[in-house]
Amino acid sequence: MNWNESANLSKFVWINGQMIEWDSAYISVLTHSLHYAGAVFEGERAYEGKIFKSEEHTKRLLNSAKLMNLDINYSEDEINKAKELVLSKNNLKNAYIRPLIWRGAESIGVFNNNISVNLLVLAQESNPEFQSGLRVILSPWRKIPENAIPIQAKSSAHYANIILSKKFADDKNYDDALLLDQFDNIAECSTSNIFFGCDGELVTPIADRFLSGITRNTVIAMARNIGIKVTEKRLSLGDIAEYDLCFQTGTAAEIKGIGSIDIEDKKFHFTNRKMLSILQSEYAKIVGKKL
Ligand code: PMP
Repeated sequence: MNWNESANLSKFVWINGQMIEWDSAYISVLTHSLHYAGAVFEGERAYEGKIFKSEEHTKRLLNSAKLMNLDINYSEDEINKAKELVLSKNNLKNAYIRPLIWRGAESIGVFNNNISVNLLVLAQESNPEFQSGLRVILSPWRKIPENAIPIQAKSSAHYANIILSKKFADDKNYDDALLLDQFDNIAECSTSNIFFGCDGELVTPIADRFLSGITRNTVIAMARNIGIKVTEKRLSLGDIAEYDLCFQTGTAAEIKGIGSIDIEDKKFHFTNRKMLSILQSEYAKIVGKKL
C-alpha cells in the first residue's frame, strides 16, 4: 500500500513549516525516532471542519515533547495554525489529524544533544459511525509502569507495548485488548480509556497509570452534566461482574460499546445499551458530529 492509499488521498503534509506533497514526504532511514522510539504525537478529530479541542491537544503534544526532552521550536499558536492549514489545503471537513514531533537523522548514537527536532502534521478523511458490541480480550502484557516512561507523554515509546497487545487480540480474532497496570488493576484498552456502568452510574479507573484521555475527561464532564454519577477508582478484574455496561473512549474510538470481555476461561457480557446510546448522542452534540 502506498502512502496515498493509506491516507485516503489526502494530498499535502505540513513538515517543518512547509506544505509538501504526500509523495515527496519522505524521511531518512537514519531517523533517530525510527530507531529509538523517540517521537511524540497527537490524534485529533475535525468534525464538519472544526477540530475538537484543538488547543488542548496542542498543549498535550507540547507537554509530551517536554516530558520526553524534545526541544521543539514551534509555539502552540503555530501548531494550531498548521493543523488548520492542513485541513484547508486538503479540503477536509471530517478528518483524523496527526501532529508528530520526532528526532532527525543527524546521528545513529542513542543520545546526542545536537539532533534536530522536527514537526509534521498530516490528516486523513475520517467520519466513522459509532460502534458497539466490541469483543475484548485480556492482554498478557501489562502497561509500562509510570516510573519507567512518563505515562502522560503520548510517546511512541509506549506503543510497542500497545502493538503487542493489539496483535495478541487480533491473532485471537478479538477487536481489542484490555491491559492491566503493574499492580493488576484495570488500566485501559489498547488505544482508548475504559468505563463501566450499572444502575445509571459510571466508574472508570484513576488515570495515573495510563494516558488520561481528552475524550475520557470530556465524557466524565458530559455525564456529570446530564446527572450521571461518575466515580474514578481502582478496579480489579474481580469487579467486572458487577457491571452491565462497558465502553471505551478515545479520539479515534469516540465512544465504543464493549459487548464482552474474555479473561482466560471467563466471559463477561455487557448488555445495557440504553445509557450507551444516550452518551453517544450527547457526545455527538458536543463534538459536532452529524449522525
Ligand atoms: N490511551 C491510549 C494509549 C491512547 O493511545 C489514546 C488515544 N490517544 C487514549 C488512551 C485516549 O486518549 P484521547 O481521548 O485523548 O484520544
